[in-house]
Amino acid sequence: MSDEQHQNLAIIGHVDHGKSTLVGRLLYETGSVPEHVIEQHKEEAEEKGKGGFEFAYVMDNLAEERERGVTIDIAHQEFSTDTYDFTIVDCPGHRDFVKNMITGASQADNAVLVVAADDGVQPQTQEHVFLARTLGIGELIVGVNKMDLVDYSEGDYKQVVEEVKELLNQVRFDTEDASFIPISAFEGDNIAEASDNTGWYDGDILLEALNNLPAPEPPTDAPLRLPIQDVYTISGIGTVPVGRVETGILNTGDNVSFQPSDVSGEVKTVEMHHEEVPKAEPGDNVGFNVRGVGKDDIRRGDVCGPADDPPSVAETFQAQIVVMQHPSVITEGYTPVFHAHTAQVACTVESIDKKIDPSSGEVAEENPDFIQNGDAAVVTIRPQKPLSIEPSGEIPELGSFAIRDMGQTIAAGKVLSVNE
Ligand code: GDP
Repeated sequence: MSDEQHQNLAIIGHVDHGKSTLVGRLLYETGSVPEHVIEQHKEEAEEKGKGGFEFAYVMDNLAEERERGVTIDIAHQEFSTDTYDFTIVDCPGHRDFVKNMITGASQADNAVLVVAADDGVQPQTQEHVFLARTLGIGELIVGVNKMDLVDYSEGDYKQVVEEVKELLNQVRFDTEDASFIPISAFEGDNIAEASDNTGWYDGDILLEALNNLPAPEPPTDAPLRLPIQDVYTISGIGTVPVGRVETGILNTGDNVSFQPSDVSGEVKTVEMHHEEVPKAEPGDNVGFNVRGVGKDDIRRGDVCGPADDPPSVAETFQAQIVVMQHPSVITEGYTPVFHAHTAQVACTVESIDKKIDPSSGEVAEENPDFIQNGDAAVVTIRPQKPLSIEPSGEIPELGSFAIRDMGQTIAAGKVLSVNE
C-alpha cells in the first residue's frame, strides 16, 4: 500500500448482479490480488508464470474461498488507483454487513451500486440504496453491469439508468451525487480502459470515476470525542485513560471533560506508541493523563470531550433502527444491551414511533405494536444507566450503535436526537 489517501468503498446491489465479479476485476486490473490468495495457490501461480494472473484465475480463487465459507469473502480486499487506496468494506449478503455498516466498524465513504443491464432494479437494489442513504454514503457510482448480455445496447443502458434515477429520487438521494457507467465486469468493458463496444458512451470509465470520488474529510473540525477503552494506573504518571480519537484534536493543556462520569481537568501528557506527543488526531490511539482525574473517577464507556463542549448524556434518545436477527418480535419495554462506541448499557425500548418502508424511506405505519426482522423503525430509547451518545447528524462516529441480545446482534441503528 502506498501513502495515498484512503477510502472505504462499499459494493452494493442485488444478488447475482455481479458484485463479486466486479471486485475480482478491480483487484485484477489494479494488480492487487490479495496475498492470501497468492499464498494459498503459490505453486499454481508460479506455473502460470510471472506474467500476472489471468482474470479467470482470480475469480476461481475468490469463488473457491466463498465455497469454503471463508467469511471475509470479497470484503476487506484492497486495491489502489492513482488517487486512493481503497478498502472494500463488507458487501451486502455478507452476514454482518448491516451491523458493520451501521456501527461504523467499516463505515463506507462512497459506494459502487451494481445493477445488471438485463435485470434492472430489483428488491435488494432498493434495499441497499435505502441503507446507503440512511447510513450516509457520500457518492454513488452506478455500474450498469453485464452490458455484454444486452449486446452493449445504449437503449437498454438508458432504461436501467432511468430506473435507478427513479429509485434514487424515491429515497431522496441527490442524483447529482451519482454517476452512471455501462460496464461488463466479466469482459472488462469500461473498467480500466474505455471499451470499443460502447462507442456511444463518452463518460468516465470506472477507475476514473473511482479516482474522481471526493476525498473523505478527516473529522478534525468536529469537537473532540474520545471514547475510553480502558483506564490504567501507571507508576510515575498516574491515571492513564486510553482510547481512540474519533473526532477533533486532543492537545496537551486542553481542559477536558469525561461523560457520563462528569469529571474534568487539564490534559498533562498525551502518549502514542510509547512516545509523548503534543496532540492527537482522529484515528490515533492514545493514552493520556489528566490533572486531578483518578482511576476511580472514570471508566470504560466514558467519552472525553472539551470541557466547554462536553459529550451529551442521554436521558432518552430517538433512533432509527433496522432489525436483523430477532427470533420473535420487538415490543415496547424490551431491554437489550446497546453497544455504542466503547459503552455497553442496557436500554429500554420506550416507544416504537414509526415503521419505515425500506424501499422508499416513507413512513409505513405510525406507532406499530411490534417490529420484526427486516423492519426499519424510529424508536425512543431510555438507557438504564447514564450513556453518552450523540445525534449521528452531528457526530456520526458517536451516533451509531448495535443492539445485542442472546449472544447475537439483533439490530443496529443511528441516533436521530438526544434528550439530555
Ligand atoms: P454477486 O452475487 O452480485 O456477487 O454476483 P456475482 O459476481 O457472483 O455474479 C453472478 C453471475 O453473473 C456469475 O455467474 C458471473 O459470472 C456473472 N457475471 C457477473 N458480471 C458479469 C458480466 O459483466 N457479464 C456476464 N455475462 N456475466 C457476468
